[in-house]
Amino acid sequence: MLRCVACGKEYSSKKSRQICRCGEPLEVEHIPGKIASGGTVWKRFRDFFPQEMKETDLRDLHTLSEGETPTIKVDELSEIYDVDLYLKNETVNPTWSFKDRGTVTSLIHASRLGAKTIGTVSTGNMASSVAAYGNRLGSKTVVLVPEDISDRKLEQIAAYDPLILKVAGDYGDLFYESLELSADDPEIYFSNSNSPYRIEGYKTLAFEIIEESSPDFVIIPTSSGGLFRGVMKGLIELKKSGILDKIPTPVSVQAAGCSPIVRAYQGGKKKIERWSEPGTEAGAIANPLPPGGNEVLRKLDEHDGLCTKVSDEEIMDAQNKIASEGIFCQPASAVGVAALKDLRENGSIEKGSEVITIITGSGLKNLRGKFDRQRVKHIDISELKEWYEEES
Ligand SMILES: *Cc1c(COP(=O)(O)O)cnc(C)c1O
Ligand SMILES: [Zn+2]
Repeated sequence: MLRCVACGKEYSSKKSRQICRCGEPLEVEHIPGKIASGGTVWKRFRDFFPQEMKETDLRDLHTLSEGETPTIKVDELSEIYDVDLYLKNETVNPTWSFKDRGTVTSLIHASRLGAKTIGTVSTGNMASSVAAYGNRLGSKTVVLVPEDISDRKLEQIAAYDPLILKVAGDYGDLFYESLELSADDPEIYFSNSNSPYRIEGYKTLAFEIIEESSPDFVIIPTSSGGLFRGVMKGLIELKKSGILDKIPTPVSVQAAGCSPIVRAYQGGKKKIERWSEPGTEAGAIANPLPPGGNEVLRKLDEHDGLCTKVSDEEIMDAQNKIASEGIFCQPASAVGVAALKDLRENGSIEKGSEVITIITGSGLKNLRGKFDRQRVKHIDISELKEWYEEES
């Protein structure tokens, strides 16, 4: 059973409807459970998945071993911010972002509904993820992208050989149009951001976080709101299962150049409004009209959460700081660390708190082919010894 998070209207999970008639997201009911020991995420956390997923043979999952990502304690950054800081390194997923966790669960839903064609509306990590798993599943896979997308952005997606359809028109509307298409025709299933079965997969992130740390704050880079919703649903289910005493304070962070959720939050509004001209290096989190935005606001309200934005300058600085701990992430993934300075200075996060932030995707996704050439020194092979002696 799926239920609208806003008006409570119920829908059958045997249909592929993902958005309520009122426009707000649908969600699978809360499922308390027990964590089993050993095995993949799908085995250990199986109890928490909806019935139709439990009935799916684990061998049919077409998993590529998503999840099971490292939780890294970072001492130098902890010292800078005077907190106990952990990074949840999602860059090591099969297509190098956390999206894979949700792609698996949404494609199980698609298969059970008998979909022959899998689609997605994305230009980035979700497109790569859906294309990869769609290809592995042997389904016809279609990725809808805007007319003006750069070839560079298509490179990873194209490697998995989907049909790439450039669509002229409003890209924000395309999200809703594609879902209408799949609500009417079970043969085609759109695995878009923020869809209920994607959220089920993202829950595993919350489970892993609680297995490996006891955070006071969980910082979540936010675009459509799907990741935020998934982590919250996972935490709430752990609490309902008696595994977690207290839900950590959720912190939603956006890039200042596209921050419709932060704007609504700071203005005390209950509804987000479209951001007119997104402009940020953190393209992976630049959704101007997040479909899960109002639900993020409700969850922040219910759980006394925090919501803040960071500039591109702060993002780039944080990306370097994260690299200084050995992890190369994309700009969108650095917003959690970027937000720490202000959150500490204004007292939102107290000294000594345990904090975890999700490093959502790999820096290799955003290579721009330009870097500071001053970093490179040229020598002749005969000068190697001399160079070393000078250095030491
Ligand atoms: C998708 C994505 C996010 C945000 O996820 P939403 O579910 O859209 O809020 C954050 N970082 C990266 C790298 C992403 O690809
Ligand atoms: Zn509704």
